[in-house]
Amino acid sequence: MNIIDRPSPNFDARTRPIDLVVLHYTGMQDAETAIARLTDPAPVAGRFPGPWQAEDVAPDAPLGKVSAHYVVAEDGAVYRLVAEEHRAWHAGASSWDGEGDVNHRAIGIEIVNGGHDFGLPEFPDAQIQAVIALLRGIMERWSLGRARIVGHSDVAPERKLDPGERFPWKKLADAGVSIWPQGAALDLPDDDYVAHAQQQLAVFGYDVQATGVMDAATKNALVAFQRRFRPHQIDGVLDEETRKLLAGVT
Ligand SMILES: [Zn+2]
Repeated sequence: MNIIDRPSPNFDARTRPIDLVVLHYTGMQDAETAIARLTDPAPVAGRFPGPWQAEDVAPDAPLGKVSAHYVVAEDGAVYRLVAEEHRAWHAGASSWDGEGDVNHRAIGIEIVNGGHDFGLPEFPDAQIQAVIALLRGIMERWSLGRARIVGHSDVAPERKLDPGERFPWKKLADAGVSIWPQGAALDLPDDDYVAHAQQQLAVFGYDVQATGVMDAATKNALVAFQRRFRPHQIDGVLDEETRKLLAGVT
């Protein structure tokens, strides 16, 4: 596939082998603004105005340095900002499979899309086809299974909404680069179902403890799970359909 290099200085060394891919939306106006932000070695607020910051913020207020390995534009153009071997700075405070700071083991892909701040635009098919092709290459290079592809909202469910409920996870699953719940029957009596769901969420990867009580971490994980697998109803309620979907991925 044709990849355009737009090197970012924002990276450092990994301490863990690559075993995860985190998908994001950029949540900005357009591809060039996002690439400018992701390659800026000293970003300040005045250079990136938008709904994500207060209007009275000082123009020279420093912003966090961020990056990703790839940016995929709406037309399917793929930009490489950081080499896969290096640690890019995209996931922030995060956890998956019981381990924090997933940037050490993840490849980050920023998909150009305005997201929730810009009315949740559709992801054009050319863009999704490019994401699928990019993921196929990554999965082959690093021997990753389809369950290793997750969203930013999966690894940081208390803070993040991306890639958002418009992102076509089903298309990715149909192309073999993500999972989708298989039809499964409920397998436990009703009295244990909160603890059981917590165990399933944790096995899937979410940072959830099996307390038997519907706590904030569990609710956030359920919202993230529904955003990905039941995007028409995202309420964090552990209803029968959600329980069936959970049984279908674990
Ligand atoms: Zn993100």
